[in-house]
Amino acid sequence: MTNYPFDSEKMSNDMIYKTLIESTLAIPWSIDWETKTFSYIGPQIEKLLGWPQHSWQSVQDWVDRMHEDDRDHVFNYCVSQSIAGLDHEADYRALKTNGEYTWIRDVVHVVRKPNGEVDSLVGFMFDISARKRQEDRLKAMQRKLEEYSYKDGLTGVANRRLFDEYYSREWLNSLRVQKPLSLIIADIDYFKQYNDVNGHIVGDACIQQIAQLLESSCMRPRDLVARYGGEEFVIVLPETNLKNAIEVAENIQRAVKAAALPHKASPVSDQLTLSLGVKCILPSEESGQMNFLSLADANLYQAKSLGRNRYVADLA
Ligand code: GH3
Ligand code: MG
Ligand code: MG
Repeated sequence: MTNYPFDSEKMSNDMIYKTLIESTLAIPWSIDWETKTFSYIGPQIEKLLGWPQHSWQSVQDWVDRMHEDDRDHVFNYCVSQSIAGLDHEADYRALKTNGEYTWIRDVVHVVRKPNGEVDSLVGFMFDISARKRQEDRLKAMQRKLEEYSYKDGLTGVANRRLFDEYYSREWLNSLRVQKPLSLIIADIDYFKQYNDVNGHIVGDACIQQIAQLLESSCMRPRDLVARYGGEEFVIVLPETNLKNAIEVAENIQRAVKAAALPHKASPVSDQLTLSLGVKCILPSEESGQMNFLSLADANLYQAKSLGRNRYVADLA
């Protein structure tokens, strides 16, 4: 044949391509569209998933070896893109012979006939499990960060940041719906002395216990207990009138008394006590939310100066 020298050249080029393509980490494959069968898949597939090269016969083999949560949407997406003649890529979990799954990214090129119909699909499978693991780790870290940044590290209740956001939101809500909003600020009495006598570790455990006790003294799902700083807590009571806010303050006092935490160095009791500032308001455009917070704080300091272990409550 006259084209013999060209065939020989083609032969060696084919071998070079074959060697190159079968030694890359990406796994090449091609599918005949009409018969929906594999016309080729790289031998690397066996090393990655365990299924031998010759076991990849039809598109169904590919579908069957896909995680069931990925199967429908990946298959439908790939078929619709292929029919539309659009190159595409899809991530999914591929089943290994040992029952585990590996994350794969399939990058697909649609080869069309001169008349525009789909002739075949050619593509590469990439092992992206390391990248997915990294993504999962990042997501978990992100979740932790979010949790940490809204949660007080010592007690697990809301931190100051969450309080600020929540209080602002509830203030605006009370203003809009014209329902009363109450705040309680609680501070442990003579906590410096408690630490001096018991040490900081026991002091920390005491703060944790008080936080739990405050949370269990609030009944409504929208009530928010936050650690405001040190041994001071603030409670937001949305849509709560003064009478109900006082009930919460009294619940807290009862719970603290029942916990009976010894505090020998306290001048007011031989048990740990709290002082509480309780304030209620029907917000108006003139009354500022920061001003209302300092009014609640003023009630706390009045409770302290009146002898501690008590609450002072009134309307703003
Ligand atoms: P008062 O009755 O006036 O509230 O007296 P107090 O001693 O509680 O005074 P104050 O509120 O000013 O001081 C709080 C003390 O709480 C200061 C600090 O040693 C201690 N404290 C603050 N944060 C922590 C903490 O995270 N852990 C421990 N163990 N102690 C803390
Ligand atoms: Mg204190
Ligand atoms: Mg304090």
